Amino acid sequence: MHTISEMREALKSKKISATELVQNSLAQIDKHDSKLGAVITLNKDEALKKAKNWDSSRPGRLSGVPILLKDMFCTQGLKTTAGSKMLADYVPPFTSSVVEKLTTEGAIIIGKLNQDEFAMGSSNENSAFGVCRNPWNTDYVPGGSSGGSAAAVAARYAPLSLGTDTGGSVRQPAHFCGVVGVKPTYGRMSRYGVVAFASSLDQAGPMALTVDDAALATEIMSGYDSQDSTTSLKPVPKWSEETSKDVKSMKVGIAKEYMDYELDPEVKALWLEAQKELEASGAELVDISLALSEYAVSVYYIVCASEASSNLSRFDGVRFGHRTNKKDLESLEQFYCQNRSEAFGAEVQRRIALGTFTLSSGFYDAYYIKAAQVRRLMKEEFNKVFKQCDVILSPVASSPAFKIGERFKDSIKMFTNDHFTTPVNISGLPAMTVPLKLNTEGLPMGLQIVAQDFNESQMFQVGRNLESKYEFYKEVPHGL
Ligand code: GLN
Repeated sequence: MHTISEMREALKSKKISATELVQNSLAQIDKHDSKLGAVITLNKDEALKKAKNWDSSRPGRLSGVPILLKDMFCTQGLKTTAGSKMLADYVPPFTSSVVEKLTTEGAIIIGKLNQDEFAMGSSNENSAFGVCRNPWNTDYVPGGSSGGSAAAVAARYAPLSLGTDTGGSVRQPAHFCGVVGVKPTYGRMSRYGVVAFASSLDQAGPMALTVDDAALATEIMSGYDSQDSTTSLKPVPKWSEETSKDVKSMKVGIAKEYMDYELDPEVKALWLEAQKELEASGAELVDISLALSEYAVSVYYIVCASEASSNLSRFDGVRFGHRTNKKDLESLEQFYCQNRSEAFGAEVQRRIALGTFTLSSGFYDAYYIKAAQVRRLMKEEFNKVFKQCDVILSPVASSPAFKIGERFKDSIKMFTNDHFTTPVNISGLPAMTVPLKLNTEGLPMGLQIVAQDFNESQMFQVGRNLESKYEFYKEVPHGL
């Protein structure tokens, strides 16, 4: 019993209790996490207490279902580290809105998950809490930055985890670990209480084993929040009830430029095969051009670093964060420097330095403004493309998971991994990863479905159609 729908069924018919579900979840973590390293903080006592008080007549759509959260989501009374030494002891006095929505529906928080520090990375190797490993092969990274979230669902710790996606951090680890991962339209979900990385790009998103489970979680987590002025007032459709609508006559865009990107042959073959599968279901393939995607990685790294340098300025050891024990400091500036140098890891420092540079007078026009202009052009290009098609099918990343350590020292190689995911955040569009099959080495591969603003419905329908052909959720990593 691994999915939300199976658990809800079993709870309803009293085949299992919430306590047993929580105990199963804790046992799975206990058995495998010393090897995988996906969990930073366990919420054991509180979770068992919640489960004990669980009432089978309670109506919530996630009533009694165990969930795990990336450590970017503030949880009242439960440590929230953002994967950083800077927040190693931070216990928030409030809970993020999206988490509140899930617990209001009865979900039980089992713990907080490993991630790249402040969500900066593609491999989970930038965590201050050690590496997290891919459950399909522990020599490989789980992806990042929501590596722990993808690994936890793949390892059947819980049927649902939350990640955040600023440039691909839900979709890429979902692809690497073989789970479904959703990044909703910018503004669908509240960012209140989610540690900020790059506010104009950040969105929360669920990870689950099936498209239906992911659609249900997306539905629950979406909606206007007075605490986040960028959330949309648009009504939230009942996605979970319409995933199985057929894709007949839906127009699926295939970007010709993406064919020329350096692509792993098995990923490319899967992409071509899935195109045929959709065609066989009555969808129409449309050639599109996304020429400006070539600039996405450059635009993304300028925008995200600029926003990060501003967002992370609050972590100075006075307002928030780690405070040094050093006593002989001569000035307030030295004190700030000491706090920040001691607690921020190398990647975070690199981004802050880059972002401070791109925002500084003399360089602002050349970098930040230029990136903002190209960003607008990219959005216009997508607007044009969506006059020709309903959704876009593409790879998620150029390859399946890579080995731990393989790209760690090579930032450019690590950054170019974000080729297919960053255009989506830059343009605020909804997108998801649907896992489809294992490659010859036994590593999962998925594909990305991108839809128009606020058109998650069609995204889920295409995802579900592909899922029904490959049924990847039936695959379980060896030994789990
Ligand atoms: N890999 C990207 C980065 O390093 C994406 C991060 C994210 O989406 N949080 O910034």
